[in-house]
Amino acid sequence: MAEEIAAPQHFHIRWEEVLGHGRQKEELRRLLAQGRLPHALLLTGPEGVGKKLLGRVLAAAVLCQQPVEGAPCGLCPSCLAMESASHPDYYELTPEVRGKGTKIIRIEAIRELTELAARYPVMSDRRVLLLDEVDLMNEPAANSLLKTLEEPPGEVTFILVTSARSALLDTIISRCMPLAFGVLSKEDIVSALVRQGAAGPQAAELAALSDGSLGRALQLYASGGLERRDCALKFLEGLPGLKMTAVWREAESMGNWSREELSEWMLYFNMCLRDMLVLYEDGGSSLIYQEDCRERLAALLPSFPERKVFALLGCVREMQKRLGANVNLRLQLEGFFIRLRDVMQM
Ligand SMILES: [Zn+2]
Repeated sequence: MAEEIAAPQHFHIRWEEVLGHGRQKEELRRLLAQGRLPHALLLTGPEGVGKKLLGRVLAAAVLCQQPVEGAPCGLCPSCLAMESASHPDYYELTPEVRGKGTKIIRIEAIRELTELAARYPVMSDRRVLLLDEVDLMNEPAANSLLKTLEEPPGEVTFILVTSARSALLDTIISRCMPLAFGVLSKEDIVSALVRQGAAGPQAAELAALSDGSLGRALQLYASGGLERRDCALKFLEGLPGLKMTAVWREAESMGNWSREELSEWMLYFNMCLRDMLVLYEDGGSSLIYQEDCRERLAALLPSFPERKVFALLGCVREMQKRLGANVNLRLQLEGFFIRLRDVMQM
């Protein structure tokens, strides 16, 4: 089987173990208490803010054998099974990873999930199926899921998770109760990083770079993170004089990166441009994402008129959308660099 059903070793199953999102937690607990939780939910919002983690807590609450008010109780056999990521009535579908980090959910995985949904629950009253990054379904998979949502085969709750809501079929969205998540506060992220062992000033710097995503902040913390930022900034510094030979060369070298690496680079490139806009706005009284690079960014302003910065941001947004598609990365990058170069020559 190509698709895998992930089984990490430990799940957080307490509402308070998931950072932030007080309003969303309250709404879910209220729906549970009133017995009005719909059979399909769609958790949407930026990457790395805890949607899936909260989905697992919700699953634990749905499956808990104790009265719903205190669920998940953390003590019953169902909660213990959930905590050790081995609940027989809970399944988590994650996309299949292909070469260079391309991810996809195919119809085979959805069919398997549908079969699981039809089986009688083993430990609890129903089954809970969580589909992470559900926007990565291809068309046959999406149509198959739609059928399953229209006619659920058994006592089952679906939790769909996505950071790209617009990539889903409207018909799927309309079958689910949507619950939107925002970014996390900088304070929340700093405190989580400090709990992970980061020093205060470092935590503050990483939180500023994380765009409200704890996932990204942790990733940066783990990877030492600022190397790719420097790479993006250097590229920006070279952009006014970018030669076609450099376009081919950069596209060839970055075409070998994984999609994760590239999207990280894009994020930094994007942040550099946004910081430049802030510098334009108020001449330097506001905080920017990359305080430590303020002088380098300010030095770029004479070669980057504001309208060009806006146009470059447009190119980045378009490229970020395209990164998910299964197209040759080197070719995509060539096109992207040429568009950037065109903007500079406008
Ligand atoms: Zn319980």
